[in-house]
Amino acid sequence: MAKDRLLIRGGTVITIDPSLGDFDRADVLVEDGKIVAVGPDLQVTDAELLDATDRIVLPGLVDTHRHTWQALFRNLASDWTLSHYFTGLHGTVSGLYRPEDTYAGNLIGTLEALDGGITTLLDWSHNLNTPEHADAAVTALKESGARAIFAHGCGHRHWQPVSHLPHDEDVRRVREQWFSSDDQLVTLFLAPRGNQFATLEVTERDWALARELGIRISCHAGDGDWGRNRPVAALHERGLLGPDITFVHCNTLADDELEMMAANGVSASISPDIELQMGHGFPATGRLIAAGIRPSLSIDVCCSNGGHLFGTIRATIGTQRGFDNAAAAAAGTPLVELKTTCRDALEFATIEGARACGLDSKIGSLTPGKRADIILISTDNFGMTPMNNPIGAFVYNAHPGLVDAVIVDGTIVKRDGKLVGVDSARVRRLAVEARDDILRRAESANGIRIGGGWIPEPYVATETGEEHA
Ligand SMILES: [Zn+2]
Repeated sequence: MAKDRLLIRGGTVITIDPSLGDFDRADVLVEDGKIVAVGPDLQVTDAELLDATDRIVLPGLVDTHRHTWQALFRNLASDWTLSHYFTGLHGTVSGLYRPEDTYAGNLIGTLEALDGGITTLLDWSHNLNTPEHADAAVTALKESGARAIFAHGCGHRHWQPVSHLPHDEDVRRVREQWFSSDDQLVTLFLAPRGNQFATLEVTERDWALARELGIRISCHAGDGDWGRNRPVAALHERGLLGPDITFVHCNTLADDELEMMAANGVSASISPDIELQMGHGFPATGRLIAAGIRPSLSIDVCCSNGGHLFGTIRATIGTQRGFDNAAAAAAGTPLVELKTTCRDALEFATIEGARACGLDSKIGSLTPGKRADIILISTDNFGMTPMNNPIGAFVYNAHPGLVDAVIVDGTIVKRDGKLVGVDSARVRRLAVEARDDILRRAESANGIRIGGGWIPEPYVATETGEEHA
């Protein structure tokens, strides 16, 4: 049988594989969805050609935590703190979602990610009020063509802290019905609330459920005040840390908790855009690295920040460089070199994302043998010419409009700057209709309105005695 071959020819290739390095000009050969060769002037005649002249060729980006369902309400929360978000999103909007709204949100949100070069998206899905909501979320992920992880995060009633409810057992059905194999483009994680939002006993049971189902865990920890109560130390005491876990945020975890994570192979996902806005605490980038954990990056609340990783990459590197320069200035010894480089930031968005998803043997670098998740960034434009430093240009100058081509598992899903085979009018119409329908059903619930002027009442916790107002 003839092999399905694709030759990406003549690009500036950044492999993110230290043994391969980078190439000013090289080709990438893909065969049956797999990268089989990377190097200059590959002699191949019987392959489909993708011209990469004036393109930077990179591994696809990985977003390790996004509440994709919120894409319908993009920018509703752009001026909110975390406590506004708990009231406005979780207390008002989330309960109004029907399964078709979840589908519409996940579809436009995942396509937005793909359009911006994110080939792997971890959909942190925590508005699953019925089994139909879960099915709708998975259906949209599958339809999008992205490599995705459906992180099952329960629904509204489970997110009333501090919860005594165990994780929704429907995840067992979801595992059986949709994810009987782990060798597919969309796979399953458990997204438990963890011991900030549920009791330690419930958390222990939820962890056991994930391990029984043989799926990884992604859990929020160290976001704002909740993280100051040493949640990771409590899990460590019970022997619950392990390499199957990613903690999201980590801002207010103590240094010794980060060391416990490192010692147990736990990975991290940081969302600096959201953390700086909503009051989670300062991004933990440098502290994580000092503890031995290179973070992955995430969008998080896509009803606040944009859904592409370029903004997050710049927020990450800018904040960390600011810390390092401030520390040097305070010590009276200017930095002789920047500790966090552009290459570091690019690795956080690629190989470290792959690691945090347990997919680093499959994706995250352009290593022959890995699946072909590849992006091409245009450089024949004013912002990228002359090209003097491809990684610096990617980190500081790139944006979704320069994502020329996207390949997922060997399939070209974006070409010449346009997603392939997507009825964008339909996707946009579904999103607007779903948003409008939710607004109609909300009537004047809690004063919800679009336009930018709605600041919800701050959240006040009751059971914990903590006030977040
Ligand atoms: Zn989150």
